[in-house]
Amino acid sequence: MLKDETVKNKLKDLVSGNVLFDEPMEHHTSIGVGGKVDALVFPSNKEELSKTIAYLRYCRIPSMPIGNGTNVIVKDGGYRGVLISMKRLNTMKITDQNADRASIYADAGVILSDMVSLAARNSLSGIEFCAGIPGSVGGAVKMNAGAYGGEIKDAVDTINLMNQNGEITAAGKESLKFEYRNLDLPEGMIILGASFLFRQGLPEKIQSRIAEILITRGKKHPLEYRNAGSIFKNPRGNVPAGEIIDTLGLKGIRSGNAMISEKHGNFIINLGGARAKDIIDLIQLAKRRVMEAKGVTLETEVKIIGED
Ligand SMILES: Cc1cc2nc3c(=O)[nH]c(=O)nc-3n(C[C@H](O)[C@H](O)[C@H](O)COP(=O)(O)OP(=O)(O)OC[C@H]3O[C@@H](n4cnc5c(N)ncnc54)[C@H](O)[C@@H]3O)c2cc1C
Repeated sequence: MLKDETVKNKLKDLVSGNVLFDEPMEHHTSIGVGGKVDALVFPSNKEELSKTIAYLRYCRIPSMPIGNGTNVIVKDGGYRGVLISMKRLNTMKITDQNADRASIYADAGVILSDMVSLAARNSLSGIEFCAGIPGSVGGAVKMNAGAYGGEIKDAVDTINLMNQNGEITAAGKESLKFEYRNLDLPEGMIILGASFLFRQGLPEKIQSRIAEILITRGKKHPLEYRNAGSIFKNPRGNVPAGEIIDTLGLKGIRSGNAMISEKHGNFIINLGGARAKDIIDLIQLAKRRVMEAKGVTLETEVKIIGED
């Protein structure tokens, strides 16, 4: 816990948005589990973010950015340090629109589906594949989010970054190391926002592609329960992780109030009141059984942080 009142008061001075101490992370993650974080701060602009990062670094307090919390599992013991929510950095605008092309610049805290909607309303095609991915723009870029044959890297043009000293730089796509479900960035680097390239498209075609994807997702994914999306990355050169888990009969297995979804083998659902430990136990079980039966190492896509 952040015991020092001076640090607490300083954080409240630096950040005009909310500063929540000993905040249960179950309220800030889509899967709805997680112990308390020492502090969860919501900077309202780049200046506040920069000063906060520099101050935390000066005090040697661990910190980490968080977007919409849809790919994070915080352990039951919580997180010792400060989680920096990017949610209040959330403006976006269309730039450089001409007859064929346009760009959208979006701050990291913009909800991805809002950008998908803005693009669709303006007949801009390029990120329809992101429809239904519930993350933020920053989280999607960091995770190189993807679905239905597309990845965020396909649409990114440049990104703005802030380092641990609070300094801002821009990086073009060609200099960025995008990988499967990851953008490799130096330790502590925060994505401030990104510019995305679009083609002018036909509005009906864009809308119908989005509708089609949302319907497919609703059929395949257990959206009626809290979850964190795909738990595992798909192993290279193999069938998808969910299919392997399904073949081994692991769907429906429970630990406490968590369960490997009967609808999709790569989803673990919170049936209500699950603990992070229940979910992590199921992750370990699936990894063990897949290794024993198939000799395949499953790697988690979700980020597990904090203490037991
Ligand atoms: C129902 C459901 C469906 C999903 N479907 C898909 C899918 O089809 N495809 C897919 O790829 N993912 C999917 N996901 C997972 C998740 O939505 C994506 O990974 C999303 O991009 C994560 O964004 P976030 O803002 O929630 O990130 P968070 O969960 O908040 O953070 C994820 C990671 O990104 C880092 N991060 C967040 N913001 C920043 C920033 N500004 N700068 C630097 N690092 C940052 C965090 O530190 C953390 O390591 C799904 C999740 C759910 C719940």
